[in-house]
Amino acid sequence: MVYRGAGPIAAVAAGAVAVLVRSVGGADFRLPHTGMTECAPDEPKIPAAAVTAEDADLLKDLTSQGPVKLHFTLTPQTLPDASSYNVIADWKGTEHPEQVVVVSGHLDSWDLGTGAIDDGAGVVVSMQTLHLLKELGIHPRRTVRFVAWMSEEEGSEGAAAYMADHNSAIANHIGAIESDLGADHPAGIYYAGKGELGQWLRPVAQVLDAIGAETLVSAPEAGEDIAGLTAKGVPSFAPVQDSRFYFNYHHTAADTFDKIDPKHLNENAAVMAVLAYALADSPEPAPR
Ligand SMILES: [Zn+2]
Repeated sequence: MVYRGAGPIAAVAAGAVAVLVRSVGGADFRLPHTGMTECAPDEPKIPAAAVTAEDADLLKDLTSQGPVKLHFTLTPQTLPDASSYNVIADWKGTEHPEQVVVVSGHLDSWDLGTGAIDDGAGVVVSMQTLHLLKELGIHPRRTVRFVAWMSEEEGSEGAAAYMADHNSAIANHIGAIESDLGADHPAGIYYAGKGELGQWLRPVAQVLDAIGAETLVSAPEAGEDIAGLTAKGVPSFAPVQDSRFYFNYHHTAADTFDKIDPKHLNENAAVMAVLAYALADSPEPAPR
């Protein structure tokens, strides 16, 4: 993804007047792949676009036969900022309502697909966490807070606004979970924070063993939108989704609802709900 993101910067340094980046992705479906692309602030802004893997191969063949001329028609534009919102709902804790466990996904997506796997699935499994607690009549000690983050793809502005709004309440954030790697089968849980979290998660992993989601993986971060909370020491988590097929569709016109398997989606909701419940109801908060 560094080729897409930093492609224009490298191209300008090499004296290019424009840049075409071969689409990242795990499959050749002739799908161009979009996403965040940056020019250096003090360098000229050059036209930048993605080409499909197939067309990149064609261009390579043609250039081996002689000079190739390309005409770009690029229609994207950056419009002025407008107001938009994170969507937040609390399932209030019974003993420590001020202590919060965040369960989250992000609400925005690139406009060429519908954003079903990135990140409609993450929003839905987070909503399902509160729904399950409600349906089962479970009222944990601490508050479970659903957050649908706005504007992750453009640079996590929603997460930055949340951090600014809750600056004085970070110590009361007991844990944060984000699902942002699709909806395929979860093999377990990523955790970011103190090493002791691995031990603390053992009983959670035991419960999730029933659906094959018992693996515990230490990671530096657990999600783009909760990275600010992670940096402030809030124990952070994400389901370890099977991502083998995620980048076949991610940020393309093929990111649509038919790519989601209801059984796997349910498994992801189970990981989110069991973990959120453990964080919200354990007598002692998770180590931080
Ligand atoms: Zn995403």
